[in-house]
Amino acid sequence: MTASLPPRSIVDTHTHTLFSDGVGTFEQNADAALAAGCRVLVATDHLTLPRIMDPDGEVQVIESELVAHRAAWEAARDTHPDLECIYGFECDWYEGCEENIARWSAGAQVRLGSVHWLGAQDDGAWIDDSSNLSIWEELGPDEVWRRYSDTWCRACECPLFDTMAHPDLAMRFANEGFAPTIDLAPLWDQMVACAHDTGKCVELSTAGWRKGVGDYYPAQGLLERFFRAGVPITVGSDGHVPGDICDGIAAAYDHAARIGYRTVEVPRADGSWEAMPIA
Ligand SMILES: [Zn+2]
Ligand SMILES: [Zn+2]
Repeated sequence: MTASLPPRSIVDTHTHTLFSDGVGTFEQNADAALAAGCRVLVATDHLTLPRIMDPDGEVQVIESELVAHRAAWEAARDTHPDLECIYGFECDWYEGCEENIARWSAGAQVRLGSVHWLGAQDDGAWIDDSSNLSIWEELGPDEVWRRYSDTWCRACECPLFDTMAHPDLAMRFANEGFAPTIDLAPLWDQMVACAHDTGKCVELSTAGWRKGVGDYYPAQGLLERFFRAGVPITVGSDGHVPGDICDGIAAAYDHAARIGYRTVEVPRADGSWEAMPIA
């Protein structure tokens, strides 16, 4: 039985390495986490994707590297006994993803559910690719938002996902000319109902601040709705460089506590999840 964590322990449930689209090794991320006072570090590289979504293997851990990925994580875990290391993946939702995710993420303890891709596998687009904003230009932000929230609700129904990462990622370019003009409240309410009805956690991500969104993911109004509906939260940095591991986690606890949250959900190395007090 694992002892409970002290309240407000620094925990980062969303981090990337150079195996996917990050920069650091597992060793470098673990070193950075310890320097930031971290107790629990969850590795969540982007899981393997169908070839058509990422033909050059730029963002994912490609299938032929899954074994080496696991081995490198285990090596870093074993050289950092003072850090509780958890193996996970950030998993894209797309039509028919469940079998792929189950196969490619076998042995993972944590699976973040993410919607970065809208549309069919062979006729869709990334919504968070700053080098290709064509979906934003073609559909406009209001239609992207409608499709995003519908897709997000379908993603909530995937039983493999433990927590839904950066729930309103569609805010990504709101300060770069692609802000929605519609009232988001009905879409937010739909998302909250989906998370609630499927028993999902959602992530409070500090990445929005680093991406120029000017808020957390989710924005405050959406986080307040999740709280009122009793949807639990995990907290993550989505750090892609070692210097961003654990970035803003303590401030995120303060923010969640102001909204009313008293605990955050933390995966533990024994396979359990713990509701850790933050206030
Ligand atoms: Zn993501
Ligand atoms: Zn991520």
